[in-house]
Amino acid sequence: MRQAAARRFQHAVVTGGAGFVGSHLCTALLDQGTAVTCVDDFCTGTPGNVAHLAGRPGFTLLRADVTEPFAVERSADLVLHFASPASPADYLRLPLHTLETGSLGTRNALALARRHGARFILASTSEAYGDPQQHPQSENYWGNVNPVGPRSVYDEAKRFGEAFTTAEAGVNGTDAGIVRLFNTYGPRMRGYDGRAVPTFIRQALAGEPLTVTGDGRQTRSLAYVDDTVRGILAMAASDLLGPVNIGNPVEITMLDLARTVIELTGSESTVRFIERPTDDPAVRCPDITLARGKLQWEPLVPAAEGLARTIRWYRERAAAD
Ligand code: NAD
Repeated sequence: MRQAAARRFQHAVVTGGAGFVGSHLCTALLDQGTAVTCVDDFCTGTPGNVAHLAGRPGFTLLRADVTEPFAVERSADLVLHFASPASPADYLRLPLHTLETGSLGTRNALALARRHGARFILASTSEAYGDPQQHPQSENYWGNVNPVGPRSVYDEAKRFGEAFTTAEAGVNGTDAGIVRLFNTYGPRMRGYDGRAVPTFIRQALAGEPLTVTGDGRQTRSLAYVDDTVRGILAMAASDLLGPVNIGNPVEITMLDLARTVIELTGSESTVRFIERPTDDPAVRCPDITLARGKLQWEPLVPAAEGLARTIRWYRERAAAD
């Protein structure tokens, strides 16, 4: 396997670069000396997420919907395909756009990588495992997805994207890799995007009850965004096709997460139990043996620290508003 340090990129195209994970990825790439073209249609992201990069040499923001073929003039040696609504609230609001971004968007991003002879990375997801019957989930588990359930527009689009990427690598020799990202949190998640961490922090800071779905015993494994970005860049620097799980194997129940956020914010909030969404997975935990062995990657930021950093960001932003 090619050593991570030996592979340097001159110019990366990041689709979905104005979203939560994408904006951190753009920053990390610029920090390592890689020029970035951020391609986004702003359906769930905003130019504000990359406003801090506007003056930096090598950064270009291009408004485009990747479901339509798109071109980038300057030669690129890395394409990171991160465009896709990702929170359940977003993909349930944008079901057809989510399916088209995972299918047509992946095809167009792969075509761009092929034209440029670039390394291609697909942002897939732990949702590819659906409501898993294997725990923790390793990459050779095929998953348990309801193809016509409400979450299918996201889960199946990502699974299709994985199939397309694998076929493209086999048929056309495109240098492709697939990362299956598990729940990631951090600054720039929208307070109303419906995901647990921003929802709980917003509610705790407002002194409102924290809305925990079901009995709160369902688990997630939460990775701080800096860890996830480091894993993605390690995958880009390798020549692996994958898929490779990138996530934090430390599992937490949603009730414990709510209590931790209350404690870290010093809030007076209580917990209120609400109905659990259809097909909501009961457990979620990555087996990261492959990432540890092949990428020498593992998460470093403990939940208490990552949550404290995220809470600080929400407080500072509220103070600036
Ligand atoms: P996000 O909604 O914050 O970012 C997605 C970005 O993609 C947004 O800026 C949006 O405007 C853009 N986009 C969507 N469709 C587009 C299209 N057709 N053309 C151009 N731009 C488009 O979500 P996120 O949490 O940052 O997720 C980023 C990627 O990582 C997604 O592909 C998601 O599936 C994947 N992922 C994220 C997580 C997580 O926990 N955050 C977990 C697993 C996978």
